[in-house]
Amino acid sequence: MTPYYCRCGQELFCENTRCGNCGRRVAFEPLSATMLSLDDDEDGWVDADGNRYRPCDNRAEWRVCNGVVEAGSAETRCSGCRLNRTIPSMSRAENLVRWKRLEAAKRRMIAGVGKLGLDVNSGGGMRFDFLEDKRSHPDVLEHFVTTGHKDGVITINVLEADEIQRVQQRELMGERYRTVLGHIRHEAGHFFYPQLVTDLAGFTALFGDPAADYDAALNAYYANGPADGWEQRHISAYASSHPLEDWAECFAHFLHIEDTLETAIYHGLSDDPGDEPRGRINAWARFVIPLNELGRSLGQRDHYPFILTPVVIEKLLFVQNAVAQAATASG
Ligand SMILES: [Zn+2]
Ligand SMILES: [Zn+2]
Ligand SMILES: [Zn+2]
Repeated sequence: MTPYYCRCGQELFCENTRCGNCGRRVAFEPLSATMLSLDDDEDGWVDADGNRYRPCDNRAEWRVCNGVVEAGSAETRCSGCRLNRTIPSMSRAENLVRWKRLEAAKRRMIAGVGKLGLDVNSGGGMRFDFLEDKRSHPDVLEHFVTTGHKDGVITINVLEADEIQRVQQRELMGERYRTVLGHIRHEAGHFFYPQLVTDLAGFTALFGDPAADYDAALNAYYANGPADGWEQRHISAYASSHPLEDWAECFAHFLHIEDTLETAIYHGLSDDPGDEPRGRINAWARFVIPLNELGRSLGQRDHYPFILTPVVIEKLLFVQNAVAQAATASG
């Protein structure tokens, strides 16, 4: 993501709540991926054009987002928080930091898909359930909440926003990468699938039959692990579990690549390949080498521990093309 600028000229990032230079309040509007820099006066918060705002209720009460609503609006929550159907129980102190991490990832995803011309309020609207199960909260009924998507509702297990639990899951599952943002971008891929995949024959040729028995495929994956040689055709082991999971993984990676490449280009760390899709993938492949080596120089894990084989690149280009066509169609 490219940085934003305060009215005073200071660089701002989308998670900021105040400018570090002039102290103004700032607010990120994820739907339009814009940043507001706001003065306080006796009637509230006002931008450079004189438009008035008040804080999103979740900002005022919990500080979990940095959003605002227009002063005259009947809404009480910002455009990001309005997507929430269920929030974590605030009776538990540890959930506050988890919820804040979930919101930050959600806002970044919303801004990312928006920049590509996709709208989280399309197709009946995306909704979020941030749920707990008995592993984190003995009083809830559910024994096991799985992160997933159904009928527009994205369910995220709140434990995914707990650093220790997430790393433990990553090691248990033998994964090289597991992040809250990765989960949210993956589930967004499921949400947008019906809108984006109009070329069913093209999809099936690359990813496989989306109508293949889902439960049977997932049960087989969890019982036996990925098929031998999955690395040649899939971005991750999990992507090999079912064609729809492959799509969601590729969609998430497309967003990872676009967001990170934009940052790299802005900071002069990557050449700017322009809009040509294959050129962007090639620029990314070149940038991943210093990206990972920078992490290793600091004793960190590889930031991007994935290999883009020719088949995987074709899948990423399919996602890119589907997104571009949908964006053009919606004007
Ligand atoms: Zn400032
Ligand atoms: Zn909010
Ligand atoms: Zn999935």
